[in-house]
Amino acid sequence: MAHATTPHASSKETIARFDRYVVPNYRRYPVSLVRGENSWIWDAEGTRYLDFFPGWGCNLVGHCPPRVVEAVRDQVGRLIHVPNTWYMEAQGDFARALSERSFGGQCFFCNSGAEANEAAIKLARAWGAAAGKFKIVTMEGGFHGRTFAALTATAQPKYHENLGPMLPGFTYVKYDDVDAVAGAIDGQTAAVMLEPVQGEGGIKIPAADYLPGLRELCDRTGTLLILDEVQTGMGRTGEWFAYQHSNVTPDVLTCAKALAGGIAAGVLTAKPEIAAALKPGMHASTFGGNPIACRAGLATVETIEADGLLERGKAIGERFRERFQTLKDEMPAKIREIRILGTMIGLDLTFDASAVVAGCLERRLLINATHGHVVRLLPALTIGDEQIDDGCQILADVLRETHP
Ligand SMILES: *Cc1c(COP(=O)(O)O)cnc(C)c1O
Repeated sequence: MAHATTPHASSKETIARFDRYVVPNYRRYPVSLVRGENSWIWDAEGTRYLDFFPGWGCNLVGHCPPRVVEAVRDQVGRLIHVPNTWYMEAQGDFARALSERSFGGQCFFCNSGAEANEAAIKLARAWGAAAGKFKIVTMEGGFHGRTFAALTATAQPKYHENLGPMLPGFTYVKYDDVDAVAGAIDGQTAAVMLEPVQGEGGIKIPAADYLPGLRELCDRTGTLLILDEVQTGMGRTGEWFAYQHSNVTPDVLTCAKALAGGIAAGVLTAKPEIAAALKPGMHASTFGGNPIACRAGLATVETIEADGLLERGKAIGERFRERFQTLKDEMPAKIREIRILGTMIGLDLTFDASAVVAGCLERRLLINATHGHVVRLLPALTIGDEQIDDGCQILADVLRETHP
């Protein structure tokens, strides 16, 4: 048997394998990646790239963070998986770690963001059932995942195309508009669900009074406030969770991407009196909360705290803001807006950003474009100042040379 160990297949060989055997539902860059270390990543040909978008936001503490690698190596030799019909130490410890760093809730573990949001939607319906409440209000431009309830919650027509009908009971309103939510809530509304910063929607940061306004509205109408922190959570914005920049707490929160240092994991945490609506047998996940993911999650928490990475996240955001402000002053016709909260970084261009992504790739800098014209960066909290400056220099050169 040929094995995909060293020496690596070339990018070309791997691409050929994909063309024949892998469902073509992704647009992929023509590069096969083989090794990562912090904010560096190497392809099969040995080319090194600087990564401003490690793991699509999942590698918040860098590629192969040492504590996570060590915890997973240790756990994988002890116990890989046991089902949730048993107790396991790591899951209890990780639940406590998350609860203590958020609002004292109880956790349900799964393996992805979409699953966490499915759980939140089921919880909202189960909680509201006795009162006949089942409707969920979500925000235009939001993104909640690809499974059917999460997809229906995702108020972007392009993701629904050819997949209808969607699930009944969802209402969509404008983002960053409390009155619009107020107008959509009726006696059958169970929950309002949103991202505290829209990620896929282009790093949209709402006004400071938005979350407090929604909290007050939800309290007044007996509606759950569900925050999707799949992308914003776990320290991404310079706080453990983005809602902590405001003075309010949600009833239910979901997190995934960066939750376990790059190992697949998702979680829902809910206030205990709400969590009680999920009775034994009503919801489950076979792999959810497995010992490997939970050890990786605990090692991620330890890394962020031991290395002071929440503070570092804020400093990284400010460094990017300075660099980008200089660029905006230089190229006002190309840059519309800079939107930054910690290491959620958006550079809103006046033209389609895909040529910028391609130009950066050629110069060995990995970035992302979302919403067509927004350069999105989700750098690791462990990135160095020199790496930030070098990458910004590349991005600046590419922006200068790109003519819309
Ligand atoms: C990525 C993302 C999801 C979906 O997560 P998956 O792990 O891909 O299912 C849901 N919500 C938000 C805000 C996201 O950024």
